[in-house]
Amino acid sequence: MSGTPPHILRRRIVALLLLLAALAVVVALVAKIAGGDDGSSVQASATPAKHGRRAARRAARPAVSPTAGRDMGRPGPARPVPILMYHVTTDPPADAPYPDLYVRRSEFEEQMQALKDAGYTAVTQQEVWDFWHRGGPLPERAVVVSIDDGYLSNYLNARPVLKRLGWPAVLNLEIANLQQPEWGLTPGKVRELMADGWEIDSHTITHPDLTTVDAARLKAEVADSRRRLQRAFGVPVNFFCYPAGRYDDATLAAVEAAGYLAATTVNPGLADPDEGARFTLNRVRVNGGTSGATLVSQLQGLGA
Ligand SMILES: [Zn+2]
Repeated sequence: MSGTPPHILRRRIVALLLLLAALAVVVALVAKIAGGDDGSSVQASATPAKHGRRAARRAARPAVSPTAGRDMGRPGPARPVPILMYHVTTDPPADAPYPDLYVRRSEFEEQMQALKDAGYTAVTQQEVWDFWHRGGPLPERAVVVSIDDGYLSNYLNARPVLKRLGWPAVLNLEIANLQQPEWGLTPGKVRELMADGWEIDSHTITHPDLTTVDAARLKAEVADSRRRLQRAFGVPVNFFCYPAGRYDDATLAAVEAAGYLAATTVNPGLADPDEGARFTLNRVRVNGGTSGATLVSQLQGLGA
């Protein structure tokens, strides 16, 4: 150092200070981007930007699952399980063609609370399947909360109720509804539901009566919908739900060929673990106007 002339030394110190200043700017920028990611996941995940997708994926994989606090019971002999069927979870508009399909938020909340008070615990179809076939645990009073089609009201009204209970739902998603931001679920919102522990299953691409379409369309609606959901959300999509509950022999064969483990109908009753019922699982329709007490006694009447 003793040999370095003072003006060279000064130049080196200035260069070092400039480098430190540049580093500080970079650190500040990185912190800002990271903060923005976390604070704007709803908006970010609604856009196809790379950074939005990354934030949404992170949101979909929480360190501790919000449904991890449930008492999952223990393995045991396979038994029938009630799969509840919901659609829109908000007030029916005055001109609703099918007002029964609407369950108000207050009704939904009262129904879920009544189920909990009666000792029920919500599980996913995968958890039921694992109990039936893979020696997994299941609560003594298990119930599946399945919600069809993919409505914004499910996100706005069903989500907070279930989240407070630490319960998952099963979303039977019609892919076309992902493009209806006014009343449907955007991909970003689906990822938020997944982060809450919701299971995503297929309800076709465009919701046709599958008994009326040709073979190519049948295959696309059944198999391609599964692949598209798998690609979009990175989940197995092991279960299928027939639009309007309509199926025939060709539909059953297409669902099995697409690799689904099981499928749900609108046939009333408990879902049966028998192999013969695998692709025609019953459900319990919950209409608007059903009180929590009525729902509980309905399930108890079915032996669940
Ligand atoms: Zn439907």
